Amino acid sequence: MIQIRDLVMQLSGGGHTLTVLDGISLEIPDKQTVAIVGPSGSGKSTLLGLIAGLDRPTAGSIQIDGIEITDMPEAELARFRREKIGYVFQSFHLIPTLTAVENVAVPLELSGVADAVERAEALLDAVGLGDRRGHYPVQLSGGEQQRVAVARAFACRPPILLADEPTGNLDSVNGRHVMELLLALHRDAGTTLILVTHEPQLASRMGRIISLRDGRMASDDVSRGDPMSQEQLR
Ligand code: ADP
Ligand code: MG
Repeated sequence: MIQIRDLVMQLSGGGHTLTVLDGISLEIPDKQTVAIVGPSGSGKSTLLGLIAGLDRPTAGSIQIDGIEITDMPEAELARFRREKIGYVFQSFHLIPTLTAVENVAVPLELSGVADAVERAEALLDAVGLGDRRGHYPVQLSGGEQQRVAVARAFACRPPILLADEPTGNLDSVNGRHVMELLLALHRDAGTTLILVTHEPQLASRMGRIISLRDGRMASDDVSRGDPMSQEQLR
């Protein structure tokens, strides 16, 4: 469960202060699928980054499973993030000097997993890239790179997966492939899935749609069906 209370994010520079998030409060239960939508600059990436503990808010509280993360010391936060949260970036953010399998193995090795490489290979198999293990990111298409990034984000089986416009740099076929992969992780592992997207078609696959405008919540559509039952209806 993620509990966000009165979250404020202000950035100052050049003598004035920009309020990026202006009092966000929301609760996201375990296993929910959430789309965060809204115009460019409305604060979507900032909100996702704060939930991931990648940044610190100006004010307010974020609790994950009852643990406050906004004032957690950096080393403890890094460990907490590794256990609880997987993060997928729009632009993949793979390490260019590591092969596909080495990229996926990084979080496993950081967590002290003994058979990190074997586990990474199995994860790559699961995202359909078993034959690309030894390829470097530059040798992979955008869609393939994003599948590697999803495998890496999910390597430690975090209960929460965050994705910031994960299909934003992909064509529609590859975008759909990545989206199916994210939904499969939710379905198979019960992962909470929170994704930022511009695409109404992707947002409609999620169980809840939160819309931001000027750093505030403009709407919160929780009345949507679970995507699993929606799929069964098709
Ligand atoms: P979104 O993801 O919805 O497009 P962001 O969360 O990236 O919006 O940004 C919200 C606002 O904060 C924008 O006006 C953006 O220009 C500003 N912003 C975000 N990060 C920074 C930063 N590091 N420095 C200055 N302004 C920033
Ligand atoms: Mg953004």
